[in-house]
Amino acid sequence: QVQLKEQLGYAFYTAEMNRLVQQQITLEAELHHAVTGNQFELYYQPKLDLLGERGIIGVEALIRWNHPERGLIAPFQFIPLAEATGMIQPIGDWVFSQACDQLRQWQQQGFDGLTLSVNLSGQQFNDPQLVDNIRRQLDRTGLDAASLELELTETHLLESETEAERILHELKALGVGLAIDDFGTGYSSLSRLQRFPVDVLKIDRAFIHDLPDSTGSAALTQAILAMAHSLGLEVVAEGIETEAQRDFLRQQYCSQGQGYLFSRPVSAESMTELLESQWNSDRPNPQASAKST
Ligand code: C2E
Ligand code: MG
Ligand code: MG
Ligand code: MG
Repeated sequence: QVQLKEQLGYAFYTAEMNRLVQQQITLEAELHHAVTGNQFELYYQPKLDLLGERGIIGVEALIRWNHPERGLIAPFQFIPLAEATGMIQPIGDWVFSQACDQLRQWQQQGFDGLTLSVNLSGQQFNDPQLVDNIRRQLDRTGLDAASLELELTETHLLESETEAERILHELKALGVGLAIDDFGTGYSSLSRLQRFPVDVLKIDRAFIHDLPDSTGSAALTQAILAMAHSLGLEVVAEGIETEAQRDFLRQQYCSQGQGYLFSRPVSAESMTELLESQWNSDRPNPQASAKST
């Protein structure tokens, strides 16, 4: 009987595996198509000033796949596949050029002083062309390197420390900002962080989610903030969904935040509307300074 069960289990397993493999093959073919067929779109999520009155101070570009039949596909459903198939390179190039064009456009509309954050996957980080590609985009658009921020995860830095350090220093020399995304989920030690020329820590939303009630999350968040402050790093809290979470973070002097409480990631058009309403309401005369540039 045990044997029969095992055989049935095995048969089920292979059928399920076949289905998954088929799905991956289909998706892979479709991903090729998406690259050439202009099916990607960038959404933007605002980053807010939590302690002052500046409101939106930056935007993070988040890719979406507009599939002709399946609708909007989230990055976790295709970024790993794009990584495995080498398609992350052309996709990453597209993200950079699209995001830089958009920031340039917002600047020309008078929305100045915003930083643009772009996510990098492991393959992109290790691409020998990375620094040249970014430099080319900056030259092409005339953007100030300081307005661009790259988001990396701790795992990028773990694989080959000396190599990672070299790349980070090259990026730093370009003048772009460097952020550690999803901070707290990896294994970065304090000494390691100090060695890397990183500017920003983004606290993973898993910690924010349980604030302020979970003593564990509260203690960790406080520790991350204390450490970051003593190292002179900027901190962004991700995934702020409630006022209680925001208030706790403010009390701990966390200076920047993102999350559904403020806005979900939205299309470029909707982001423009958000910027317009902010610039029209609480900025004294933003259009005046825009005209002089
Ligand atoms: P991430 O960079 O950590 O982005 C934050 C994710 O959290 C986004 O998911 C965002 O929609 C979501 N989020 C923001 N605020 C909240 C909140 O209050 N509550 C909850 N539950 N979620 C929130 P998204 O857009 O699905 O992106 C997932 C991941 O995919 C990103 O994580 C990033 O690692 C990767 N990714 C996105 N765009 C790109 C890209 O252009 N290139 C690369 N290489 N990776 C990307
Ligand atoms: Mg990110
Ligand atoms: Mg993150
Ligand atoms: Mg994340």
